[in-house]
Amino acid sequence: MRAVLLGPPGAGKGTQAIRLVEKYGVPQISTGDIFRANIKEGTELGKKAQEYTNSGQLVPDELVVDLVKDRLMQDDCKNGYLLDGFPRTIFQAEELDKFLAEQGQKLDAVVNFEIGNEILIERLTGRRICKKCGAGCHVKFSPPKVEGVCDKCGGELEQRKDDTRETAESRLAVYEESTAPLIDYYSKTGTLKNFNGDQDRDKLFAEIVSVLGE
Ligand code: AMP
Repeated sequence: MRAVLLGPPGAGKGTQAIRLVEKYGVPQISTGDIFRANIKEGTELGKKAQEYTNSGQLVPDELVVDLVKDRLMQDDCKNGYLLDGFPRTIFQAEELDKFLAEQGQKLDAVVNFEIGNEILIERLTGRRICKKCGAGCHVKFSPPKVEGVCDKCGGELEQRKDDTRETAESRLAVYEESTAPLIDYYSKTGTLKNFNGDQDRDKLFAEIVSVLGE
């Protein structure tokens, strides 16, 4: 299974990815997670990426494409992968196509999450992540039992720097301008599958599986 999860920030790509990884036994490749890990570790890549991720701008293509290609060459990607947050520009999509052609591979599906901006802002600004175990929750939709404390491990919950209202709004604007054109790009290749992202997560998961296959 080689699939791309496409959709605006807050659409639920990460949440579905966790379950799809389990279902299909392929790794989730999240470029956002890769950047956050590099920023935390203070690597050269992290230092270069930080100013962009903090302000909700896209990290320049040249810092992203080789990183993803290297990752996709690793052993655990032999039987497929779920790309989460990549490609995010037409250039990245073209580079991915070239890479796949070189490998004699193709994408099975592009899973596109459709959802309105007001809901996304509410989802993003209420999102909290555990500092210790990385589990996510939402102050309104899935509140922790004790405010600020992770239900799973007791760790401290924090808000992602780019989940503040101002940055969330710019991320949505960046999505519209740079990433939404991929919908048209992939609809021409016949790989695009559209899903309503504003529905119960179990129902959405079942719908995705019914389209991707058992
Ligand atoms: P995400 O966790 O997918 O929302 O990504 C967080 C941030 O990482 C984005 O706002 C961008 O700054 C950066 N980022 C992640 N993936 C990409 C990508 N494919 N191209 C450019 N920037 C990216």
